[in-house]
Amino acid sequence: MRRRGSIFLTVAVLCAAGLAAMPAGAAAAGTAQPTEWREVFSPDGTVTRVEIPKQAEGPAAFADVRAAAASEVTALQETGPSASRFDVVIVGDGYTASEMGLLRQHAQSKWNEIADTAPWNTYRQSINVWLVNVVSNESGVDNDPSQGVNRDTALDMYFNCGGIERLLCLNESKAKEYAAQAPEADAILAVGNSATYGGAGYPSLATVSGGNAQAGRIAIHELGHSVGGLADEYYTPGTAYTGGEPKEPNVTTDPSGSKWASYLGLSTPDGGVIGAYQGGHQYERGIYRPSQDSLMRNIDKPFNLIGLAAMEGAISSRTGGTPNPDPGPGGACTGHETSYTGSLTGGGSVYEPDGGSFDAGAGTHHACLSGPSGSNFSLSLLYWNGTTWQTVAISGSGGTLTYNGVGGYYTYQVRSVSGSGSYTLGYTTP
Ligand SMILES: [Zn+2]
Repeated sequence: MRRRGSIFLTVAVLCAAGLAAMPAGAAAAGTAQPTEWREVFSPDGTVTRVEIPKQAEGPAAFADVRAAAASEVTALQETGPSASRFDVVIVGDGYTASEMGLLRQHAQSKWNEIADTAPWNTYRQSINVWLVNVVSNESGVDNDPSQGVNRDTALDMYFNCGGIERLLCLNESKAKEYAAQAPEADAILAVGNSATYGGAGYPSLATVSGGNAQAGRIAIHELGHSVGGLADEYYTPGTAYTGGEPKEPNVTTDPSGSKWASYLGLSTPDGGVIGAYQGGHQYERGIYRPSQDSLMRNIDKPFNLIGLAAMEGAISSRTGGTPNPDPGPGGACTGHETSYTGSLTGGGSVYEPDGGSFDAGAGTHHACLSGPSGSNFSLSLLYWNGTTWQTVAISGSGGTLTYNGVGGYYTYQVRSVSGSGSYTLGYTTP
């Protein structure tokens, strides 16, 4: 049965969010059916929420547990022992025994898309990526390409979840059972054997269409929730927040934005400057977000500075702090084409080279900053977009920075978040 709003939903791409069971709406006919909220991604990158009937899920049966235990785990990349690495685990669904090569190809393309996005790009060499070769009896997922198509797959993935066409759900318990075969799981991604644009977010994992080139952005947004502990920065018009100060780092009830005081006024990769913009965490009024339009509001945008810092904190807490330098040319702190030294006092900042900028071709920028011990110095790369200097990449304290950009004018900003002393900046231009 088609409901009002289904025309909109057919052009939307969907994904799930927090799964708190909600009482059925007053308009529900008769039975009080539990519902849950799901995120709905539109083709223009914006996000909204819808309420769907709670999806029933049986526990993983003994046969599933046994099948999971027998599945093969391979590394897409292994950079070191899991004790000092962030471990991403990818499981697949709807891939038969003869399609393990296709699963690997899909998993690699999703990881590449995540790894190209800041701050994952900075930590690429501090992350292990495990692929669990989950074998399904049949190829593809349910309700794809059309409703009513049923397939026997290991994780029970299906589109049209809750009646929403491109919401890609699965059996979360089974997915976790398979993911547990990897040495460690700091984040779990489930890829489905489908070319249809779609995905979903669960408390413990994200799903994404393995064969769709754009769907990876959904996973990057969901990892913002599950890894960075970030709140959404979009809102439902006509709603007001009345609760206490949220625990998430990127929303606040304080209209001055003092929660992220040290960032106020800085230009942010998603455009504009960090401030306190009304609306976020699903509510239009009574709550504020750090920037106009970050990845937590529009999946086509980068994280804002607050989101970057939260993601870096979460990833680096698993990797021992400082990212491993990129092994590529110019990736390490030494050996760059160009290097500058200077000194800063606490809270100070400077642009390099020498208060000016440099001209670069299209390609990848590599940089590294070393500061005095005990200090927290950060490095940002800014791009002249014709109107203003826009921050396009930021490193962690003492970390490396890589950025793949268009040709044009760039400058590095070295900033002391805390501490003072001398620094060395090295960079290589494309
Ligand atoms: Zn979200």
